[in-house]
Amino acid sequence: MEIEQGAGGKAAGGEGEGGNGVPVEAGAELAIASRILADLGVFDAAGHVSMRHPGNPQRFLMSRSLAPALVTADDIMEFTLESTPCDARGRTPFIERYLHGEIYRKRPDVMGIAHGHSPAVIPFGLTSTPMRATYHNAAFLAAGVPVFDIRDRFGVTDIVISSAERGAGAADALGDKAVVLLRAHGFIAVGPGIQAAVFRAVFTEISARVQLQAAALGGSIAALDAEEGRLADAINLATVGRSWELWKRRVTT
Ligand SMILES: [Zn+2]
Repeated sequence: MEIEQGAGGKAAGGEGEGGNGVPVEAGAELAIASRILADLGVFDAAGHVSMRHPGNPQRFLMSRSLAPALVTADDIMEFTLESTPCDARGRTPFIERYLHGEIYRKRPDVMGIAHGHSPAVIPFGLTSTPMRATYHNAAFLAAGVPVFDIRDRFGVTDIVISSAERGAGAADALGDKAVVLLRAHGFIAVGPGIQAAVFRAVFTEISARVQLQAAALGGSIAALDAEEGRLADAINLATVGRSWELWKRRVTT
């Protein structure tokens, strides 16, 4: 799906650009998002988060290839939706940037994306047991959590989403959902803003832990149904700033 061209490279609202050509406030917020996900254990030495460019929906912003805990605003690069750097200036982009570009191409509603390899989600990409929305913070999972098995389209690979074709495969598997699991790899969480994408990445991992604990107790699991999930997710999205401000403080002071 193509997206209307926006106002241009300059962000709406008169936001200025930093020395790397990226809107200053957006670059700072995205760097904080990366450090939050590392601080909370959702990202390890790998993992990356992106946001759609606030002034041009045909572009997205993402760090250069760097451990997520170390990302600052100066590391943020701008990409086309083909995942090509607009002005690399010698910086090396993440190999898996294609999953971001292809999701932004297919999902005009998505404004933020986080991809990580946190351990509690992995079993749900390996087995036939679906992830459930175990409690209200994970309400966005209640609509369903598909699994992308890279073998289905690409056969035996190195598992990495290292091309536009593989990125499109992951985006197709995501469909209209908030989260897709990648078999033997990790997860992708998307949201209508960068703060929502971070929130969903955090509670994808935590809900996976809760589900594993619930399964260990035995019996059926009375998770949120789709309608409960839809209602609770609206509350979460309206109040996501509260979590963001707390998590932000942990990585900026
Ligand atoms: Zn990965």
